[in-house]
Amino acid sequence: MKKNRSPKGVNLVAVTKYVSNETTKNAVLAGVEHIGENRIEGLLEKKEYLADKNVKWHFIGTLQSRKVKDIINHVDYIHSLDRLSLAKEIQKRADKTISCFVQVNVAEEDSKHGLAVKEVISFVDKLKDYDKIKVVGLMTMAPFTEDESIVRNVFSTLKQLQIDIQNKDLPHAPCEELSMGMSNDYVIAVEEGATFVRIGTDLVGKEF
Ligand SMILES: *Cc1c(COP(=O)(O)O)cnc(C)c1O
Repeated sequence: MKKNRSPKGVNLVAVTKYVSNETTKNAVLAGVEHIGENRIEGLLEKKEYLADKNVKWHFIGTLQSRKVKDIINHVDYIHSLDRLSLAKEIQKRADKTISCFVQVNVAEEDSKHGLAVKEVISFVDKLKDYDKIKVVGLMTMAPFTEDESIVRNVFSTLKQLQIDIQNKDLPHAPCEELSMGMSNDYVIAVEEGATFVRIGTDLVGKEF
């Protein structure tokens, strides 16, 4: 399975929603370069606390259109682009081009956000009209299950979708990254080609 590992290497996005500003700072001092938060307030607070640090900020949570203005010019990456109304609001509010992951609900779970696999190509095509949006990659969350084959299948499906998009050679959608893998499934995600893993729980209690 290792053959599908990305030759680009894998970036750790430390998801800091469970930990304090202080712990987050210690993680950064220990070498963490990417911080992820799923709440706007959490991201803004940690960013202010770490204002003098060189960190890339990732918004990984669901983003309501009316909240875009509060966050868009404070982030480097958005992992949850899943509808044109959100793209429209980003286009209106962003001062510069934003690196976005299109969120895909590969397993089509009711409890999760994101586009169905079959909707993704036409959605990405439409994003060419939004010059503040660069589709850097795709993001997914696998179902929470012990069945490794289901999880692996979700990640390999996202990888194949990435290849299909890359083959279209779209200037606005280089799609070189895959944001997949959390504490319980990142080993499988990396084996299937993840370039960004988002880890929260597994970092809690680690000594930095
Ligand atoms: C919380 C969260 C994570 C991290 O999950 P853990 O299981 O704690 O590692 C990753 N991605 C998203 C979107 C999250 O909300």
